[in-house]
Amino acid sequence: MSISTNYKWNSSYLRKSVQIYQFNCLKCDNVLIDSSQISSVLDMPSEIWAEMMDFWHCHKPESKTNYADKFSSLKPEKDGIIMGAYYVAFNIDDGIYGVTKVSNNISCTKCSKSIGEYDPKVKLDKVFNWDLVFKHHGKEELFKPYFHTYDILLDNVNGNATRILELTNEDESKSILVWIFNIGLDVIIKGVGMKKNCMKLYYTTDRSNIGEERKNRGEIDQVTVLDSILESTILQLTSINERLPKSTREMGKNWKLGLLYKEE
Ligand SMILES: [Zn+2]
Repeated sequence: MSISTNYKWNSSYLRKSVQIYQFNCLKCDNVLIDSSQISSVLDMPSEIWAEMMDFWHCHKPESKTNYADKFSSLKPEKDGIIMGAYYVAFNIDDGIYGVTKVSNNISCTKCSKSIGEYDPKVKLDKVFNWDLVFKHHGKEELFKPYFHTYDILLDNVNGNATRILELTNEDESKSILVWIFNIGLDVIIKGVGMKKNCMKLYYTTDRSNIGEERKNRGEIDQVTVLDSILESTILQLTSINERLPKSTREMGKNWKLGLLYKEE
């Protein structure tokens, strides 16, 4: 099985394609990470794997140990950063980052907005991609939290052949059930324009619908994601659904049509 490291901001994109860059605070434009001070850039290859372990480990207990060993031994060099699927990880004690840590919360030193957290599992400080603006060569790139959902779904189709997946938030109070139909579609969306590499899917956030589908299908694979990722995914899918022709918006009584893509 191959797990994608095709993240939007992965190490080879930073080191080879972009080379000179800054990650700034999205709110106040404070420079948080400056490539001129960075000694090395690595990928966190197991990120999506990590999230899928929650449901895999009950079927494949042997993977859990290997995964944990691999994860805990991953450390950046001094002044080095590690690119995750939806965050940048580093050691704040290197003293070159524009962030402040109070207990486990990471905030922008200039505007004090909370933009990340210390992750005791990997013993690294993290800032979330959606709180950053990536600047290079006079350009700016942003990252929406639902980009990560796209990666999770794509990895599940490619690696697991799973087309139905439930994404839940951390306390399992909210979830979305997704059924992936097509990937790699170019679609013109009313009021949005042409979007490439869209994923066509049906979804529901209704608890009783999800319960009914689970009952009919037996087991449904679950992935836990951050609240912000789940909220952003639901908002984006709902907003796209409302732009689709009325006759195509629903399938049966349980499913709504949505499109997901990794562009703004
Ligand atoms: Zn700021």
